[in-house]
Amino acid sequence: MSDQYKYILEESKLPKAWYNINADMPVPPQPVLHPGTLQPITPDFLGVLFPMNLIMQEISTERWIEIPDPVREIYKLWRPTPMMRAVRLEKTLGTPAHIYYKYEGVSPVGSHKPNTAVAQAFFNKEAGTKALTTETGAGQWGSALAMACNFFGLDLEVYMVKVSYHQKPYRRIIMENFGASVFASPTDKTQFGRKLLAEAPDSPGSLGIAISEAVEVAAMSGGKKKYSLGSVLGHVLMHQTVIGLEALQQMEMAGEYPDVVIGCAGGGSNFAGFAYPFVHRNLTEGKKTKIVAVEPASCPSMTKGKYTFDFGDTAAMAPIVKMYTLGHTFVPPGIHAGGLRYHGMSPSVSALVNHGDVEARAVKQLETFEAAVQFSRAEGIIPAPESAHAVRAAIDEALKAKQSGEKEVIAFNLSGHGHFDMTAYEQYLRGKLEDYEYPAAAIDEAMHHLPKVTVP
Ligand SMILES: *Cc1c(COP(=O)(O)O)cnc(C)c1O
Repeated sequence: MSDQYKYILEESKLPKAWYNINADMPVPPQPVLHPGTLQPITPDFLGVLFPMNLIMQEISTERWIEIPDPVREIYKLWRPTPMMRAVRLEKTLGTPAHIYYKYEGVSPVGSHKPNTAVAQAFFNKEAGTKALTTETGAGQWGSALAMACNFFGLDLEVYMVKVSYHQKPYRRIIMENFGASVFASPTDKTQFGRKLLAEAPDSPGSLGIAISEAVEVAAMSGGKKKYSLGSVLGHVLMHQTVIGLEALQQMEMAGEYPDVVIGCAGGGSNFAGFAYPFVHRNLTEGKKTKIVAVEPASCPSMTKGKYTFDFGDTAAMAPIVKMYTLGHTFVPPGIHAGGLRYHGMSPSVSALVNHGDVEARAVKQLETFEAAVQFSRAEGIIPAPESAHAVRAAIDEALKAKQSGEKEVIAFNLSGHGHFDMTAYEQYLRGKLEDYEYPAAAIDEAMHHLPKVTVP
């Protein structure tokens, strides 16, 4: 019998509800604190930035949240996404392991990000929002939200991390094509941006800085603009669970169940979206799948950071949450995986890592690109540099299985393609890409600026 390569679900199998891990968390939720008073926030405070329907999702403990029909209809433009068995990669590696990957790069903008962008645009539209502001790192989130805002007739301002703005000019054009306005952050459009530029005119920017700018613009708009975040928050991670819910059905089609589930983690959304439905089985059905979140060694919030209360953004304007953090003032090195350059990690992913339900791993830039090129030469798909972190970990698992001779079943999320990241691949192929030293001094320094929180 020959091996099957693709596991394709019919449109009718598109999930009808998202999975909300709040219903099953093995540890109690931690309070979210006001950035000024350091006291627990009320929904009113969040209401300045987000519509009430999304705030209600954020705090909901219902296990299943229905996906509205207009959102499912748009999902059908590219969902269900394929689950592939990397048969050719297995052969290249000579491993007895079976390697599966869920491919989110088939979405119109090439990543998993539209899964929440479409949902957030829909719920904002329902709540009467006219315009959104957001940040973007590599430009993946900005393009996804630009597409979604275009579908629902919302205006959009995007604050794009400066280093990516220059590395990835075509991402900006995609956003502009969908009608969004795009600015290189730090900009001179916000108070915080102007202050930063005065201190560091050459700042490469960071996700934390861009978030501060987008939050400031929404907060100062007198209710005219709401803010949208592409990762980290509970409702964002929940919208992404369509990925894992489809993957569960596809693993069933394949007649296997994963021993290891892997995702790369910047703020945690594609990782959680893929992994949480499997975590659900671990928590409620006694399954023992190893769940692995992979981060860059140069921005190692989970493996080297502290599990504590910190601001979600650099300017200390966003709410304070308990998470693994490198300190909100830490500006990560300009690695090519722009989507992984965030000082913190989603609170739920952090809590699960801290409790031992999720294993965190860090990989370096060069070995990551090495894995990405190996993967592309076997499977034909060039991964996004972010996704390549998951590829690295999956290959490492498969090589371990080769050594032990065990037939492990490995499943990972290939969160996007790398077609707009050819500058990075060019540098790698020319031998010009380098590993960054672990920025110990900068992280130490940033740790001095954690908020002094006393929690009940
Ligand atoms: C944004 C992005 C990431 C990182 O963000 P998460 O919220 O951690 O998923 C990973 N992969 C791709 C392709 C991205 O666009």
